[in-house]
Amino acid sequence: MQLDRILQSQGFGSRKECRGLVRHGFVVIGGEVQEDPFADLDPTGLEIEVDGETWAYHEVAYVMLHKPTGYEVSHKPIHHPSVFSLLPSPLRARGVQAVGRLDEDTTGMLILTEDGQLIHQLSSPKRAIPKIYQVTLKHPANDELVAALLAGVQLHDEPEPVVAAGCEIVGECALRLTITGGKYHQVKRMIAAAGNRVEALHRNAIGRLELPADLAPGEWRWLTPADLAALR
Ligand code: URA
Repeated sequence: MQLDRILQSQGFGSRKECRGLVRHGFVVIGGEVQEDPFADLDPTGLEIEVDGETWAYHEVAYVMLHKPTGYEVSHKPIHHPSVFSLLPSPLRARGVQAVGRLDEDTTGMLILTEDGQLIHQLSSPKRAIPKIYQVTLKHPANDELVAALLAGVQLHDEPEPVVAAGCEIVGECALRLTITGGKYHQVKRMIAAAGNRVEALHRNAIGRLELPADLAPGEWRWLTPADLAALR
């Protein structure tokens, strides 16, 4: 694949801009400045240094972000900065989209990708992919709360009661709650309908993929093939 096409596919600008980057000596491959924008390279596993930053080639972008509080999951945020501003510009330029939304004050795992099929799969009610949350409550948790959430609670505007796929008490005011849907404010509304209130919400996992302990709030990383398998 031609170097200018590789760079364009990775979000470094139009083909013309990418050719300019190469011709002006901003692109280093294998420790050597590559000045030929038409150099034919195998992109698989390719590491490219662009303007001093090393990039690993990824045919399709799949990333995980540890969302901090105070960010909106939107390309057009209204009150807070966008989570997309936490990503480097080549990734933003590739037009990655978030899989589902987290509220501005929710923290934890967010998957971002340019793969529309994966977004659809992970959001589809038919697939019922579990999303696991650590919920901090205003009032102490008790067995009645857990039983109500597992039995299903009636949310305004929903025809059927909404059930938790799993729920356990993990602290005086803390639950580990698993849901399979992605309705608007689903966890907060379920907890309110069960007579308590969410003070803080953190998504620990989607499917079998857990947020790694070493990924700090605001940080992102590429998903590996094993991560992708764990998601589905
Ligand atoms: N449920 C909510 O209420 N908020 C979130 O951010 C995610 C799930």
